[in-house]
Amino acid sequence: MNSHSLTPEGVREEVSDGTPGFYRLGVLVNGDFHTAYFGRSDTCLQRRLCQWAQLGWYPHFVATVTETVEEAYRLECRDWHLHGDDTVNQRHPAAPDGTTHHCEYCDLNDRLAELSNNGEKLYTHG
Ligand SMILES: [Zn+2]
Repeated sequence: MNSHSLTPEGVREEVSDGTPGFYRLGVLVNGDFHTAYFGRSDTCLQRRLCQWAQLGWYPHFVATVTETVEEAYRLECRDWHLHGDDTVNQRHPAAPDGTTHHCEYCDLNDRLAELSNNGEKLYTHG
């Protein structure tokens, strides 16, 4: 993902109207993008990014337009599990309104925890 200037013009150049998507906000330092915050829009990524641009808190963004709301949610969850601690995001992403999507990374963690619990039982029966 390439980073772009977080201005209304920069946003409109990169992101078309009326599509869901995932974004990161941050700063470009020596060619490397550093994420400070990430999120998604379920309805219009362009509008959401323009709102951020007006706030003027972050100079750059990267964006991924997605075909579906689920895909934007999945990307947001991935960033939460991989990089959440390095950002100002404090809460796990919420599932899109009116859906019951599960975070596949949380599900995976649960399964790993189950497996390791079973493993412990095996060892204690030693
Ligand atoms: Zn999760």
